[in-house]
Amino acid sequence: MSDSHLNCSNCTVGNCAHLKKSFPEFCLTTNAKEGVVEKVTKRYIRSSTDRKIALTSANIEGSYYGRATRVEETLLFIRDMGYKKVGVATCVGLLSECNLFAKIAKAKGIDIYGVACKVGAVDKTVIGLDESLKLSPGQHESMCNPILQAELLNEEKTEFNIIIGLCVGHDSLFIRHSKAPVTYLIVKDRVLCHNPAAALYGAGGYYRRLMTPDLPAPSK
Ligand code: SF4
Repeated sequence: MSDSHLNCSNCTVGNCAHLKKSFPEFCLTTNAKEGVVEKVTKRYIRSSTDRKIALTSANIEGSYYGRATRVEETLLFIRDMGYKKVGVATCVGLLSECNLFAKIAKAKGIDIYGVACKVGAVDKTVIGLDESLKLSPGQHESMCNPILQAELLNEEKTEFNIIIGLCVGHDSLFIRHSKAPVTYLIVKDRVLCHNPAAALYGAGGYYRRLMTPDLPAPSK
């Protein structure tokens, strides 16, 4: 790969974080187009929303580093941003996790408005999925409906939306159509108990197959 194609995904030093090492030749900081860093930095100052989100997030990182769980960091963020209407877009298969999170949030004085992925109960074939690709062909199987999840939360005028376990791609649609800023509480991984990083940590061992050009074969 030529140097001009190298980027942060090829970097092993991360010198942009503390300036205690050296920047690689291809560094996106030192090779940034003139003025672009300054121009983007001004956006945090010009937009009160972006500034508030950035500062609140950095304050939580600084104040609770390594002590608060993601559940707690999410609740701290909601409190410190002053959000009163908080939405959850949940996978229907993670309703019990959503119920539990809503109870925990309630205990901290935060009301959650949740919408499950199968809301609307529209059969998968309506958008063109072949009947044979349903998990149980011949039966009603509702499609995941992330655009409706976003619309219902938009109608509720939620100020902040949290994703609990939406599928890859369905989450993209939800984020694309949500008017409120979005964060993740649970990233779905059906194989690894919702811990997708485990595949990366295992890529030198049990998940060695990840380093080959092959992707898993479909089951049907
Ligand atoms: S900005 Fe530069 S130092 Fe930071 S991760 Fe990217 S390439 Fe590495």
